[in-house]
Order: sequence, then C-alpha cells, then structure tokens
Amino acid sequence: MQDVPNSELGTMMTDTPSLSPTGDPWLLTPGPLTTSPTVKAAMQHDFGSRDHNFIAINTRMRERLAGLVNGGDDYVCVPMQGSGTFAVEAMLGTLVPKDGKVLVLVNGAYGERIAKILDYHGRAKVVQQCAENLPVNVGQLEETLSADSAITHVVAVHCETTTGILNPLKEISAATARQGRKLLIDAMSAFGAVPLEASDVTFDAVAASSNKCIEGTPGMGFCIVRKDTLEACAGNCPSLSLDLYDQWVAMEKNAQWRFTPPVQVIAAFDQALNEFEDEGGVAGRGARYRENCKILLDGMADLGFEALLPAELQAPIIVTFLMPSHPRFDFTLFYDRLKEKGYVIYPGKLTVAETFRIGCIGRLGAKEMHGALEAIKDTLAEMGVDNCAPAAAA
Ligand SMILES: *Cc1c(COP(=O)(O)O)cnc(C)c1O
Repeated sequence: MQDVPNSELGTMMTDTPSLSPTGDPWLLTPGPLTTSPTVKAAMQHDFGSRDHNFIAINTRMRERLAGLVNGGDDYVCVPMQGSGTFAVEAMLGTLVPKDGKVLVLVNGAYGERIAKILDYHGRAKVVQQCAENLPVNVGQLEETLSADSAITHVVAVHCETTTGILNPLKEISAATARQGRKLLIDAMSAFGAVPLEASDVTFDAVAASSNKCIEGTPGMGFCIVRKDTLEACAGNCPSLSLDLYDQWVAMEKNAQWRFTPPVQVIAAFDQALNEFEDEGGVAGRGARYRENCKILLDGMADLGFEALLPAELQAPIIVTFLMPSHPRFDFTLFYDRLKEKGYVIYPGKLTVAETFRIGCIGRLGAKEMHGALEAIKDTLAEMGVDNCAPAAAA
C-alpha cells in the first residue's frame, strides 16, 4: 500500500466516517472518480488562456504525459477538450487516412464505440468480435491480417471497462507489428495504472483522459502519438474541432489551445500529476489499485458473490459481479442503500448475464474498500438476502 493517499484521507475525514472529505459518497465507478481534496482545490483559480502561468502548466502537462510511455522524443502528447470519447474520436479521425482500413478488436462496449466512430467517419473497417468474458484472440487477429493486406490499422482497448478484462496488449502489438500494420490503443481506464511503454508495446497512438487513473477531474482527453506519424496527418480529420494534427501544430507554435481550454480542469490535472508522481507513478498507483481490487475480490467472495472473470483476466480497475438470484435481492434497492451509506457502485453493461460493477480506482484505499464491503454486508442483512449465488450456480 502507498502511504500518501490513505493517511491524507484519514486526517481529512468529516464526522460521518463513510463519506469523503467533501461529504460526498465514495465513487466506486469507472469515472468520473473520487478526487483528492488538493486536486479539487486546484480548480479555485481563473486563468486567461494566454496567461503565462497557464501556458507553463499546459507545457509541463504535455511533457509529463508523453514521458509516461517512455518513448523519448519519438512521442508527443496532444490534449483534446471533452470526455475520453472525444480523444478516441480525434485519434481515429486524425490518424486513419481516408483510404485506410481498420481492424477493430471488440470484446465490449468501448470496442463497439470505436467501430461506430469509424462508421460516422466513413472509414472502412472490419470487426473481430470476441465474447465479453474472453480476452481478444491474438491468433485470429494474425490470421485476419495475413488474409487482408488492405488493413492498415488495428485498434485495441487495453482494459475493456465493460467487464474489467485486461486485453493482451503486448501480444496484440507484436502480431500487428509483425504484419507491418499500425496499432492505435484506447487505454482510457488503464493508463497510469497498468504499464504501457514504447519499449514493450509497438504503437502509433494511445488515447486516455483526465478523469481516470491519473485521478483528475473530467473535461479533457489526450493522445500520445508517434511524432513521425502525426506529421503525415495534415488534412485527414473529417472534423475541425477534433483534428489532432491541427491542435498539435497550433500548440507547438505558441503553446496555446486553438479553442477555449478547460483551464480549471488542466490546473487540477497538473496537481493530479504531482500526486501521481508522489505516489510512485504507474508502479505506485498500480500497486494501490491492485490492493484495492484484491480486498474487493476477497471480501465479495466471502459474502458469496461470484465475479464474472477469473483472477488472471481481471484488470485492477473495475470488477464485474454476477447478480445474486435470491428473490429478495433487488439491485435498485441495493444501489440506493449503498449510496445512503456513502458508496456509489455501477450497474452492469453486459448482454450475456445480469451483472453489476464495483470500481477500484480513484482516490480510494484499503479503508474505503473495507468500508464498502461492510456497507454491502449490512445492506444484504437489511434486505434479508443470505445467499448471493447467481442463477446459474444457485
Ligand atoms: C471511460 C472510457 C472511455 C471514454 O468514455 P467517456 O465517457 O467519453 O469519458 C473510452 N474507453 C474506455 C475503455 C473507457 O473506460
């Protein structure tokens, strides 16, 4: 466990022990997430978009983010206003040329969203559909690439947040590189907690956002892109506001954004990056989330819940649990009672089974995970549920 976040949370508790320092429930969700008091406080300033303090923050932010993939000067970071999807759409729109063809690896809702974006953009695509509870099949990927030389790009989701499954990015990247195609990654929910380094994974671009594992506030996404790739992308993007090339060229010119930047979000993100570095970067943050995830999995198993995924496929980001079949288990009531006790969980998004999800990311530590488990135990007792087995196993 890391020392910084939990000791800080402990001393800043309000008199209701189950609520966060601001009196809000803890968010055990895939984002937006619980942020630290100091990240929230960093938003208490106004900046003009040409203010030199703001410009310094912006430059520093771009350098620090690009540094996370450890690719030296080969990669640049281009931020984009909006939620994470805006960054994914900017990445696809800018980097896939009009005559490109994309292979989308789908095992959940975020992969499906990527396919939908490509349809909006009128880009040719093929989808490799995989079951939601299985990782992307790399053998099949390799076969598809050998059989179709028109495919220029492969798009993969690192942690598919729909289930919390970790896709085999290293193997996907090796297969894609062997076939001489380019890899684009949606690493939204994993970036900053699960390693992604240029020395391990061959990729052209990765998209992520301010409000997931870096623990900032929502409002900004970013892409980390190979500079030589981006240089060749003038005029590709079908959208002006989402043109990553244009955003990059403008930002390189004067360090300013083309259109109104979310200044408070960026100030908070700068503070979130300080706290991320203080915690030990990807290694430290990943260690806290893995500990959170383990407490959650062990505690829920003790209560009789069944997780969708086997432990070896589970990313330490969000866990999907099968809905108990007990006649007195009512998810809406369960959700509401947990929220009253200070913990917000998340409904499921699966087509194959009735599920709900509990996240392990954000400014949460062992104390909050144990607190959530206590609240779950108490709520089950209130509902009169003494068996949490799902339908199939009941
Ligand atoms: C959160 C997330 C996104 C972006 O979602 P927004 O709601 O637009 O922020 C994209 N991909 C994955 C895998 C995510 O977890």
